[in-house]
Formats: sequence, C-alpha cells, structure tokens
Amino acid sequence: MTFQIYDTATRTLRDFTPLREGHASVYLCGATPQAKPHIGHLRSGVAFDVLRRWLEAKGYDVAFVRNVTDIDDKILTKAAENGRPWWEWVSTHERAFTDAYNLLGVIPPSIEPRATGHVTQMVEYMQRLIDAGFAYAADGSVYFDVAAWSAAQDSDYGHLSGNRVAEMEQGEPESRGKRGPHDFALWKASRPGEPSWPTPWGAGRPGWHLECSAMATYYLGATFDIHCGGLDLQFPHHENEIAQSHAVGDGFAQYWMHNHWVTMAGEKMSKSLGNVLSVDHMLEMVRPVELRYYLGSAHYRSVLEYSEDSLKEAAAGYRRIEAFLQRVGAVAIGEPTAEFSAAMDADLAVPRALAEIHNAVRRGNQLLADGSAEATQVAGQVRAMCAILGFDPCAEQWASASSDDDGAHRALDILVQEQLELRTAARAERDWATADAVRDRLAHAGIEVTDTPDGPQWALSGEEN
Ligand SMILES: [Zn+2]
Repeated sequence: MTFQIYDTATRTLRDFTPLREGHASVYLCGATPQAKPHIGHLRSGVAFDVLRRWLEAKGYDVAFVRNVTDIDDKILTKAAENGRPWWEWVSTHERAFTDAYNLLGVIPPSIEPRATGHVTQMVEYMQRLIDAGFAYAADGSVYFDVAAWSAAQDSDYGHLSGNRVAEMEQGEPESRGKRGPHDFALWKASRPGEPSWPTPWGAGRPGWHLECSAMATYYLGATFDIHCGGLDLQFPHHENEIAQSHAVGDGFAQYWMHNHWVTMAGEKMSKSLGNVLSVDHMLEMVRPVELRYYLGSAHYRSVLEYSEDSLKEAAAGYRRIEAFLQRVGAVAIGEPTAEFSAAMDADLAVPRALAEIHNAVRRGNQLLADGSAEATQVAGQVRAMCAILGFDPCAEQWASASSDDDGAHRALDILVQEQLELRTAARAERDWATADAVRDRLAHAGIEVTDTPDGPQWALSGEEN
C-alpha cells in the first residue's frame, strides 16, 4: 500500500516516494528551550514520532533529525531577566524538553543538533548565498536579499505560505544595513555583552532560519524527503528555509508536513496558558501514557482543543485497551489489521486508526467472554497497532507504571463498595435505571464490575481480579 502525505507546499495528497529506496530522511524543527515545555510544544514531537514509527513499520530505514535552537533573542532576554548565564538557561530547559519527550515515549531522534554547534556549516552556507548574489553583509550582519531572489527566474518565494512578498513581515527589528524591508537576517552582529562566534563578516550569532537549512543539509543532504514542523512555522521560518536552499540551487525537502496547534477555548497555546497546560499539571490528572494517547488522538492537521473532560475521556479510552490486554495476559506482538494500515496510509488518519483499535478490543472482549482462544490473536493485533501509535500497554516503559499504591487502593475499595451496595439495593427493588447509572458512573471512573455468585466484584480497568 502506498503511504499518502498531505504536502503543505502543493496543498495536495501525494504518494510518498523516497529519494532513496528503502530509506526515509526527515527533518523536524525542534524546540527553542527558553521555558519549560507545555503540551503545545510536545504535540509536534508526538505527531511526528507517529510518522517515524509508521515509516519504520512500513520497512523504511529512517534518518530523523530534530534540532535544538539553543541561541535566540528570547533565550538571551529570559536568562538576563533571571540573572543566569544564557548557556545554563538553555541547557536547563533543553533537559526539561528531553525529559518530557522521554516521558511520553517519543523515540530519541537519530541526531539532535544544536545551532551553536554548526556555525561552520552556516558560514559556508552564507558564502554560497553571497556568491550566488542572494545575500549581502552589512554592519557585521548578513541578510538574505528577498528582492533579488523574488526576481530570479526559479524563485518560488511565498509559495509555501501562500503570501505575497509585499505583504510579508519578517518580524525582525529595522536595521540600517538592510537593503529591503522584507530582507531577513542570516547572521546577526552581536551587541556588546552578547555571545558571539567569529565569521568573515564579523562576530555574531546565527539567524534562526539559516540554522535549520544548514543543519538539515549537513545531515540529510542537499535534497531530502520530509520536512516537518508546527503550522505557525510556515511563515516566516519555513518559507525562508526554502528561499535559502533553493537560492543556492539545492532541492531541499520533497514533502512538507505541518501539525496544527493546541488550543484552549479556541485560543492558541500561548505563554499565559503555558502554566495551565504544562506537562507537570497534566500529569497530576493522567498517567504519561494517557497523555501521549490524548496528544495523538486528534488528526495532526486538526486543532486539538484542550479540555479536562477530553483529556479524561482519552485516558478512559486508553484504559479500555490496557484492560483488555491485561485480561488476555502475556501475548506476542502481532500485525496491524488491514483497516488500521489503510488509515495510517491515508496521511496518518490516527482517529480512524484508533477507532479500529477499539473495534478490535470490543471483538477481543467478546471472544474472551465466549472463551475463544482467538482472543489471543486479536490481542497481538491490538499490541501491534498500539505500538505504531507509541502506546503499547505491554511495552516495558508503560507496563511498569501501572501498579497501584496499596493505601490508595484500600481507600478506593471503601468508596466503590458503597456504590456497589447502592447498586445491589437498587436491583433488589428492580430499579434498573439507578443500578445501571451506578455501573456507568463506575465505568466512567475506569472501574469495571463483574457479577459473581459471591456478589459483585470490582477491578480497575487494566487490573486482574
Ligand atoms: Zn527550523
């Protein structure tokens, strides 16, 4: 089956044909670690971890590069405000991002290059741009000449974002040396006290767009398969990456993929929401694997509208899968179903893929109830499908985190027993509505009730009796 990708650059679904058979090269714009991560940051890490896992499931050898922008205005400002060295500030937050990625089961990238470690590649890149006539040095900075590139015959500036050049605001401060208002900085001259690296044009620091072009090209080549990132990076960041690479005659990315953002009450994730949606806060409500399941539950090109209810609903969905696999017991990982694979091949249609997992779980539970040995086979399929989405409940990372604290368990038992007594009394009075309501309430809390000759027994979804 052919894997189809929605390519932002052409705004069409395209069959994925890698440049090199059996290999896939992917570049993902990573974090600018100036603060602790919130789930808005992590969504792209999770979304493209699913891309990587699907490519690997299809047999590709994947080279996955995710950079760290470890020098940037915001990093310098925040470090100064807090009276800390910039390099300590960025390293501290980079570790927080790494911890969060690990906690959510994101496979570490093949390499995680930092901007400050690739100044040599950027100097070479700038020289190529200057030689080609599309960049110039001024006052110790180096700028990309948008007017020159826009006038070039093979220019496609504005194509990715659908913007007209005249309307493009680079969001950079005005500078005396700039020839045109739409030019952007490849290299920024350092002000006194700022960190700097030497170049033939003066000491300074990397421009954001240049670093990604330089690192993607260095690791993946002048032409590579897929470039990914958040929707908000389309312009100016990705538009300018394309301008830089095409201006030096490189093919650059063959496919562009963009994930949509996380919103709360329709508002884009911003810093004020950062506290509410911090990973720490989420993990007070759900387990890491449940947060992972939640972040992946919407299609990557759709908005993920956060609410506590939707988070808890997702967690309950995950627990239904976990409970089924735990009832079956140890089972080897099998193959995904055809419907699951078809969904993933359709531009990673994860909501459809999840529906297929839940269909399989329902089928498996029925087989278990019928005492059929076929339940084991279904469980193997369920594991395979969950593994591709990064949350196989039997995987070591997640399985070890499901045991419960004894004290909490006893307290829960007292509360559940009260509910079960209510239910027993209702049934004795043939008040089925109340009895069912109790059962539903418990099920919603992840508690399953089984009627036995000794009276009702309860278990947390995912726990053996
Ligand atoms: Zn980037």
